[in-house]
Amino acid sequence: MDLLSLLTDLHADGARQGPGSPAATLQALALARAAGLSEGPLKMADLGCGTGASTTVLATALRGSLTALDLIPAFLARLEANLARLDTQATVSLLEGDMNAPPIEAGALDLLWSEGAIYNLGFRQGLQAWRPLLKLGGFLAVSELTWLTATRPSALTAHWEAAYPEVGTAGAKLQVLEEEGFRPVGYFPLGPDSWLENYYHPLEARFPAFLTRHAGEAAAEALIAEERAEIALYRTHQEFVSYGFYIAQRRA
Ligand code: SAH
Repeated sequence: MDLLSLLTDLHADGARQGPGSPAATLQALALARAAGLSEGPLKMADLGCGTGASTTVLATALRGSLTALDLIPAFLARLEANLARLDTQATVSLLEGDMNAPPIEAGALDLLWSEGAIYNLGFRQGLQAWRPLLKLGGFLAVSELTWLTATRPSALTAHWEAAYPEVGTAGAKLQVLEEEGFRPVGYFPLGPDSWLENYYHPLEARFPAFLTRHAGEAAAEALIAEERAEIALYRTHQEFVSYGFYIAQRRA
């Protein structure tokens, strides 16, 4: 099985595919509201939505239309099933596609959301691709791997700089937002529960069944070894690294 199919198989049963929490999604939403996001109805998108951890929270909390876009059909199918069990306010459209060029009209969005996914494009490239989709004054809310301190153990720096060269401090990320035509209105780091209770623990619980399904597949064993190493690294160094949530407004 190829890596994308293995990743899909490992993650499709998860409530989320990256660190986060419903409380963090609502906290980011509260920061956008404090900065002037209207009560709606709003035109919204959740890019790289996965199985919809944030989509379901937004669709419940907000009125309007919400486009949830992801590359992986199995994730969207799970989101569709989750939505069917919820009493949502917003109308959700599921879209299989590439978030580098979402089929969304220029200047259409009041709110563009993306948790744990902008790294697929790179932070700066993602901002450049997504800014034109927002109305002037429209809000962006993204979570992104962030150093919590100016210095940190070198093993941690080496791992993440190899895996994600754009990793940086919140100060550096806020500067990129400013340079790319946004006015930052809020930042907060995700706490350890967003990583451990909500993401890594459920993921670890799926390892044994995954390895049984893929017995004898070297690529599957290598994937789990990599995941275990990343989890161990996080457990050791959680005071130095997290995802930061960035909320910003499109400038003219
Ligand atoms: N927002 C979700 C998922 C984060 S994982 C959550 O917080 O749980 C990153 C997601 O981005 C995955 O679902 C992956 O399928 C999706 N993705 C990766 N590259 C993509 C691309 N080019 N276009 C659309 N989605 C992409």
